[in-house]
Amino acid sequence: MGSLRWVVHGRFSLNGGKFPAFLMADGSYQVLARRWRPQKFDDVVGQSAIVRTLSNALDQGRVAHAYCFSGIRGVGKTTIARLLAKGLNCRSVDAPTSEPCGECEACVEIEESRNLDVIELDAASQTGVESIRRLNEVARYTPSRDRYRVFIIDETHMLSTSAFNALLKTLEEPPPHVVFMLATTEPHKILQTVLSRCQHYPLGRISQADITGQLRRIVDAEKVSVSDDGLSMVAIAADGSLRDAQSLLDKLIAFGGEHVDDETVVGLLGMVDRELLFGATELIAQQDLGGVLRFVNRMVEQGTDLHQFTLDLLGHLRALLVAATVEKPGDILHLPDADLTRLREQAKLFSIDDLDRGFALLSASEYRIKQSEVPRYELEMVLARLARMPRLEPIEELISQLRSGSGGGASGGSGPHRSSERSDGGDGVSTAPRHQATAPPSSAPDAPSATPSRSAGEAHAAPASPAPRKMSPPPTPPPSTVSPPPTLVARGNGADPAPLDPPVVESTIGGDIGLILGHLRQKSPLTAQIIERADATELRDDTLFLTFQQAGGIFEARLSDRSALGTIEEAAEAALGRKIKVVAGIDAAAGSAPAPLPSAQSSDPEGPASRHRDELWKRAEEEPMVKHFVDALRGNLTDVEEI
Ligand SMILES: [Zn+2]
Repeated sequence: MGSLRWVVHGRFSLNGGKFPAFLMADGSYQVLARRWRPQKFDDVVGQSAIVRTLSNALDQGRVAHAYCFSGIRGVGKTTIARLLAKGLNCRSVDAPTSEPCGECEACVEIEESRNLDVIELDAASQTGVESIRRLNEVARYTPSRDRYRVFIIDETHMLSTSAFNALLKTLEEPPPHVVFMLATTEPHKILQTVLSRCQHYPLGRISQADITGQLRRIVDAEKVSVSDDGLSMVAIAADGSLRDAQSLLDKLIAFGGEHVDDETVVGLLGMVDRELLFGATELIAQQDLGGVLRFVNRMVEQGTDLHQFTLDLLGHLRALLVAATVEKPGDILHLPDADLTRLREQAKLFSIDDLDRGFALLSASEYRIKQSEVPRYELEMVLARLARMPRLEPIEELISQLRSGSGGGASGGSGPHRSSERSDGGDGVSTAPRHQATAPPSSAPDAPSATPSRSAGEAHAAPASPAPRKMSPPPTPPPSTVSPPPTLVARGNGADPAPLDPPVVESTIGGDIGLILGHLRQKSPLTAQIIERADATELRDDTLFLTFQQAGGIFEARLSDRSALGTIEEAAEAALGRKIKVVAGIDAAAGSAPAPLPSAQSSDPEGPASRHRDELWKRAEEEPMVKHFVDALRGNLTDVEEI
């Protein structure tokens, strides 16, 4: 059983320790959280700094009039408040003590919530001002028997404003024998003037190690056998709340009896076997499409919850990122060492960008998998996409490959796309200055792939298109000739002669492109601006062409960042329900009329500069290092600058 692997997703709704597990002598049940409630400060788990401070204060007789304990549920807020109350009132000694006896009348009554001088108020059920007025009334009288009148107000943030104001009255001038203890999960909702009169102790989440340790003590004492892995799973699921952990253990024991095996834990916590996650990721790394589909089939046959699997796989990708980037991933991931080692190994199969894109792709499908009548189809498709996703290489690797002379062809994990691209890209056709890629609308028979008669496609689809890929269309015009204006419709460029077919742009931007924009504006307004500022946009088949008039603009610069393209592609896929490739490029219309070199001021600002740039461009594209990068990154040359 020790070899079981697991993952935790932390989406439980617990009924806060109400699940009965242990039969008491009188026939009633007592839950673990109750049975194991700390009876002295030393027993409090995971809040050592706060406990030490309070103990010292008690022993030195420095008692505040109001305390506030905040933190998530189940970290010990009311437990500490009760211990503090016992310490103040314990009758075994004649002054406040950090070691209440737990046996005197005061201690026992406080434990059983029936001490007349220690009054507990649940603000969640008594939010109104009346309950606080009554409390204020009681506060005026000296304690009936013990040293202090203690008011423990649970869920204090639930009090109404008038109740807070009533409370404030007593807090402003508290009688010497009164101590308030406010407990809350949401301290920011407590009236600031109230909070400022309290000693505020924020209780942190309890560490997994502390929770696991406490669970181990409990199961050993209760004579229940649970493996260390099993307890770790419970601790992780409890997410820092000891009470949640104890409640889960209650359920497990109720379910499994004295021997709780790991399968029971996995089943009850709704976890997905971690082995599945490593397995699926391995297949994706190998780009094994058939394997991925068989894998889903097997999960379906085994009755795995596919949505849960998706969530856990997202967690797994995140874990891979952590393992790849953080020196001590154990600090963040809290997994057994064997899992961490394995994660680190698997992380080597992907670049950070791969993980990023994979996460985005999977995350975009998660909701659909959840909602779908047939989640299997959705999962199959997204896993297949992940498997087909071309791997990106870190730029450092490219550089080192170049240095070692292995050239553009070297790379690990290249999928089918990549290799075909390589052979296309490397066939020497390429290097016509892309800038000048004239691509006359109807005279580019060799232009790559789909070449309908007009627009951005010829000029710009080629360089970035993933499938048959060429640096630019084969027909290489003499560099000095003036490019015919491309068939792009250039918005905002009325001076340009003969803009062709304006409707192409206008008709699409409202329709599908409008949908894409809508999605994108929500997701990333900055990226949406790229489309908005493009001089021409066109959606043809499954490719979105974005064209800019000038090289080097800020939006174009943003586009050279692949993640921006990725963001647009995701938004497009989400909007249109199919995969859209985004291709961006520079409009060649800027012209290359023969003109003096750029040093001369010209009345036509674009002419000479552009001409000069074209020459630079040509030189750049012929540069082997540039070729290598453009090829390896499957990117475009977007700007050339003389330095
Ligand atoms: Zn006592």
